[in-house]
Amino acid sequence: MSTQLFSLTASALADLLEKGETTSEEVTRSFITRTKEVDSTVKAFLHFDEEDALAQAKASDERRQQGQSKGPLDGIPVALKDNLAVKGQPLTCASKMLGNFTSPYDGTVIGKLKEAGAVLWGRLNMDEFAMGSSTENSSRQTTANPWNPECIPGGSSGGSAASVSALETPLSLGSDTGGSIRQPAALCGVIGMKPTYGLVSRYGLVAFASSLDQIGPFARSVDDTATLLQAIVGHDPLDSTSYKTEIPDYRAEVQKPLEKSVVGLPKEYLSEGIDPEVEQAVKAAVKWYEDQGSEVVEVSLPHTEYAVGVYYIIATAEASSNLARYDGVRYGHRSEKPSNAVDLYFHSRAEGFGEEVKRRIILGTYVLSSGYYDAYYLKAQKVRTLIRQDFLKAFEKVDFLLTPTSPVPAFGKGERTANPLAMYLSDIYTISANLAGIPGVSIPGGFTQSGLPIGLQLLGKPFDEAGLLRAAKAFESGHDYHLKTPPLG
Ligand code: GLN
Repeated sequence: MSTQLFSLTASALADLLEKGETTSEEVTRSFITRTKEVDSTVKAFLHFDEEDALAQAKASDERRQQGQSKGPLDGIPVALKDNLAVKGQPLTCASKMLGNFTSPYDGTVIGKLKEAGAVLWGRLNMDEFAMGSSTENSSRQTTANPWNPECIPGGSSGGSAASVSALETPLSLGSDTGGSIRQPAALCGVIGMKPTYGLVSRYGLVAFASSLDQIGPFARSVDDTATLLQAIVGHDPLDSTSYKTEIPDYRAEVQKPLEKSVVGLPKEYLSEGIDPEVEQAVKAAVKWYEDQGSEVVEVSLPHTEYAVGVYYIIATAEASSNLARYDGVRYGHRSEKPSNAVDLYFHSRAEGFGEEVKRRIILGTYVLSSGYYDAYYLKAQKVRTLIRQDFLKAFEKVDFLLTPTSPVPAFGKGERTANPLAMYLSDIYTISANLAGIPGVSIPGGFTQSGLPIGLQLLGKPFDEAGLLRAAKAFESGHDYHLKTPPLG
């Protein structure tokens, strides 16, 4: 039996653990074996420490034997994007800049997961410093899409999505600044959720654009998504943007039926440039919700056309400031034999950062520079407010919004690397939720003729993760897309 444990969801594994029909050690070994089998193709993992994972699993088994299980995540493997700080583990952000860096502390979500008894294992590949939409900006390796290894898995949390899709881990965490959880989840056929800004502490997440970054779960079922979300949310005094709010019981909430809901279809999201098969999948989902008794209404988010432009001003401005700390003195890569201090900064940064990261820093420095600040940065902040208002207005009429997650399914490796703008447009449907701070989830919504997954995005009211997950669960219960697994190994 143990060889097939890797094909089960976290909830199914938790049931078996609870009944004493397996152990965390068996479960963890099963995922490690699976990963050794398929990761030479998938290349989702940058690093994992087998002994450490098994030691955590054995500790979980001992707790359980003594009747001290810590709940539904106790003994369940959770793999982590390589921008989340785990004490004593590598933390590279897939950058040469942090090539030899080890985290000296645990981030808040990591502390919470340890408290929940999860087996934290593996560092997952990503675009360098989370900048990108294909994981091709990793300085280490290009992750493959498990459904077609010639295609990219999406990004920047490509390793987090691909590892769950390829059954290398039942759960993973990623981060989403402009779509980096939802877009790779869509392209790899799994669930990925970006929580409301402020719901999950960012302490211990390497900063890219601090007013947009959120950590969130990847899973293969809505129940599992709710379980992982439950474990990581909550106010944290170590993150000044973390929000004090009542936390619902997401795991219980998702079990409730979706009451007659009003679904909004933003007309700006089915625009030109969308792949016809993606559009078809969204229309089929609209019809499905209607057939279930939901009302579907068209809504308008009139400032959508500015979202990509606004994002690439705000995100790069914040990145240029956040990444100023990598100076060759305090962190990471240090150029050898500089002749003076300025030379040290210059060469350490020139050698340590990749091309896309440099492009962002230059763009961000430009939009913040005197004379351009008002024209670009300040104006972008004003449009950001308008984008948020568009959503809040729409939510006066609807319970949630249904959109494509990505305009296209997974594209071929190398297809967009020469054209940054084409790459940036991959995020056209996901970016607005970060600018507005609202929650979003991508769920499996079908497949193309050529067998690539298509993702549907549900966007919700601030802090209505429970409502979003209920809507996602209703769709999941009526379809079997989430049960399909890629033809690997
Ligand atoms: N693809 C977007 C970017 O390159 C979003 C990245 C993210 O969400 N981390 O900035």
